[in-house]
Amino acid sequence: MSQKNKQCGYVSVIGLPNAGKSTLVNALVGTKVSIVSRKIQTTRSRILGIALHKNAQIILIDTPGIFKPKKTLEKTMVSAALSSFEDADFIVHIVDASTKKPSKSNHDIVKKLISQGVDKTDNVILVLNKIDKIEKSILLGLAQSLNDAFPYKATFMMSALNGRGVEDLAEYLSQILPESLWLFPEDQITDMPMRLMAAEITREKIYDQIHQEIPYSVFVKTESWENFDNGSVKISLLIYVEKESQKGIILGKGGAKIKSIGKAARKELEEILGTSVHLKTFVRVQENWAEQAENYELFGLEIQRYNSFT
Ligand code: GDP
Ligand code: MG
Repeated sequence: MSQKNKQCGYVSVIGLPNAGKSTLVNALVGTKVSIVSRKIQTTRSRILGIALHKNAQIILIDTPGIFKPKKTLEKTMVSAALSSFEDADFIVHIVDASTKKPSKSNHDIVKKLISQGVDKTDNVILVLNKIDKIEKSILLGLAQSLNDAFPYKATFMMSALNGRGVEDLAEYLSQILPESLWLFPEDQITDMPMRLMAAEITREKIYDQIHQEIPYSVFVKTESWENFDNGSVKISLLIYVEKESQKGIILGKGGAKIKSIGKAARKELEEILGTSVHLKTFVRVQENWAEQAENYELFGLEIQRYNSFT
């Protein structure tokens, strides 16, 4: 293929927590690059997922949800989501169509779009997600009321989970992206280094297996990564929690919980890396991990103590 016909650009995926942003990015990329959970505020940083469709390289920015933040971690997450507007050629606003009053709850985001990205009003695409959960007749009314509130460039309806409608969006994006050389190698699917991916996957397993408020108090960091001559790797992870009691819950009775979390993370990492993985986990209490700038820098984030969402 001649480089001349190629297209490439950035597409930022924004929306309320739990709308399905990470699921959509993974569906477009075709592989998991961003962790997904039923629990809100799973995505903490901006994650690039790189999708190919025909001649287009679609660089997706998966963002944390946009909501009114209180804590430092939340402020940093929301700020990362909002600043992704600046880098994007297009914005996909994804809405969970199955929630109560989806139009109303998305109004703040629409207002933010208008106030921040005035020059981008031609560039916002609406996606009504989770159509597997609702009646078609409701969808049309919802599409109408959101389009009345904001001049979207186009509207798509899909189930990011089962894949219905995802191809149509990929096709559309590939047509509107600017003509450009591809910015990443053809086989690259994310900009996330494996050290971060290992920590993120482990955090996802904690979300999967622990059903209390604890996930929001957890920070996972890769402490060391060793490659051995036989191809296997040894990864040491530090899991920080804010309180002694949380440490007990993560460890579980006789260490059973952390063992099971580690096992699930190891299995997934072995699949991704295609080699055997020796995973070591250490749980530590560090009350103020969320106030330390270096814990954000690891994820390419700048700590935000002020509120960027008003
Ligand atoms: P995010 O917070 O916007 O990144 O949302 P996630 O991608 O983490 O998804 C939140 C939850 O919604 C997860 O449990 C997903 O499996 C679920 N989900 C995402 N898309 C769909 C969909 O199209 N249909 C259904 N039924 N569930 C979905
Ligand atoms: Mg997410």
